[in-house]
Amino acid sequence: MSGSLLVDNIGELVTNGLGEGPLGIRRDAAVLVEDGRVAWVGAAAYAPAADRRVDAGGAAVLPGFVDSHAHLVFAGDRAAEFAARMAGQPYTGGGIRTTVGATRAASDDDLRATVRRLRGEALRQGTTTMEIKSGYGLTVADEARSLRIAAETSTETTFLGAHVVPAEYADRPDDYVGLVCGPMLAAAAPHAKWIDVFCERGAFDVDHARAILACGQAVGLGVRLHANQLGPGPGVQLGVELGAASVDHCTHLSDADVDALAGAHTTTVATLLPGAEFSTRSPYPDARRLLDAGVTVALATDCNPGSSYTSSMPFCIALAVREMRMTPAEAVRAATAGGARALRRDDVGVLTPGARADLVVLDAPSYLHLAYRPGVPLIRKVLLNGVPQ
Ligand SMILES: [Zn+2]
Repeated sequence: MSGSLLVDNIGELVTNGLGEGPLGIRRDAAVLVEDGRVAWVGAAAYAPAADRRVDAGGAAVLPGFVDSHAHLVFAGDRAAEFAARMAGQPYTGGGIRTTVGATRAASDDDLRATVRRLRGEALRQGTTTMEIKSGYGLTVADEARSLRIAAETSTETTFLGAHVVPAEYADRPDDYVGLVCGPMLAAAAPHAKWIDVFCERGAFDVDHARAILACGQAVGLGVRLHANQLGPGPGVQLGVELGAASVDHCTHLSDADVDALAGAHTTTVATLLPGAEFSTRSPYPDARRLLDAGVTVALATDCNPGSSYTSSMPFCIALAVREMRMTPAEAVRAATAGGARALRRDDVGVLTPGARADLVVLDAPSYLHLAYRPGVPLIRKVLLNGVPQ
């Protein structure tokens, strides 16, 4: 859509740039959009003329949410496993293999339909950037097609061939690592921006993780890592050492892990995924400890059919505030600018001139309502690349 668009009559504008407080808030503001970008931000009284106008009605406007961790390419669901877990069975991560079987058996069109359905669901809840991982194919062909389908919907695609060791390689994990680093990576890399490994007891140990991530880096993929979710381990420090954009979960951290993330030269973001703790009834990560140490924190959904089947960033914000003692401002920043940092993006997660015009208009006067009114559909309107959805 060409021409300029003015989002006007904004009661509270979260810019994550210049303005009041950590969210860079402006009151009684307007945003001018041209060619899909933010062209101007300022007081509504001084707003320039535009071809079209969206009246925010005095409500709050935020950057669209940046969900930097989601597993959308799969088939089937695991509702029965969830019910069993809620009845007292522990979460072990083993259910991933159930989804692998269903995903391998699914057609391309079935996988595509699921990705589009979940991406649409997230968009309606304000998510304008969404990372999508493979990781339920675990064969050369199935990982490649998972990423090809993901790339139809997002530029932030992640090769997660090292999600679990599939059953057929259970007694020869070294051979599987060889497959991941060899033909699987070669087939996946053309469709992927990132490489990820589930570095955890029962998945991939630190030596395997290091080898796989190094292979990905060698072909130009950026590094991210599932680390320290189910117990303490070396994953977080491996991620920092490799210059990972993000280490994700960070539920069980030592003082040395926190120190590594807070290091003066560290560019690695700690991405917290409270939907996973909610859905597995597990202790939440200690967000306060990370924030107080000066670590950059992101929030993401971990949307997947096993351990966190939510696509809702507002839900994750509410959990982060209620259960992880983040302030509403910290949680909103982590869900926008934090997610952008976790994807090494400076054009999203902010509403400043030059940024992509991805924004949400709330059905509420303040961003505070995202945590204050949990479970309520507060996203009134979404602009993606400047285009009203
Ligand atoms: Zn995950």
